[in-house]
Amino acid sequence: MRVGVLALQGDVREHVSMLESLGVAAPQVQHPGQLDDLDGLIMPGGESTAIAHLLGTSGLTDPLAQRLAQGLAVLGTCAGLILLSTTVIDGRPDQWSYAALDVAVRRNGYGRQRASFETELDVAGVGRVAGVFIRAPRVESIGEDVEVLAQHDHGDGPYPVLVRQGVVWGASFHPELTGDSRIHRLFLDSI
Ligand code: GLN
Repeated sequence: MRVGVLALQGDVREHVSMLESLGVAAPQVQHPGQLDDLDGLIMPGGESTAIAHLLGTSGLTDPLAQRLAQGLAVLGTCAGLILLSTTVIDGRPDQWSYAALDVAVRRNGYGRQRASFETELDVAGVGRVAGVFIRAPRVESIGEDVEVLAQHDHGDGPYPVLVRQGVVWGASFHPELTGDSRIHRLFLDSI
């Protein structure tokens, strides 16, 4: 199995090591041709506006949209989730997203003071996992085809933090920043 990691900006290496530790080839994707032979793709966290800009300059914006439309399995974490969403609240005026996952996310939705935190999450089919949230997007509404696999109440919730719509997955948190590969495993098992 080959699961690429979009390698334009953000925490690319952590996802690559996680995938390789699970015995999966994890090529770094920086050019359109590198999308061709993938069984899946991870879109990492970082800064969604920076990644969107680099998707444009690398010529990946439309080829990736085509692969998503063809049903490429994809896991977006944090900024990656923002890029997959249908609606981005509090985005930059020119912010765009792929609308591959029927959710509305608010950028930095967990607030400024509480911009980063770590908590325990209860993930369906997995159990307790550590959730690392870094200026995380908050999933504020979901379409009826979206399944919620974990949610978190940060005082005014709960809000979904791990969601899936068929082969398109999104996490508000960073499963690649813990030593625990079970979320990656769950995604790989769905491919
Ligand atoms: N707040 C960032 C954004 O809007 C996402 C943060 C992250 O990926 N850790 O892109």
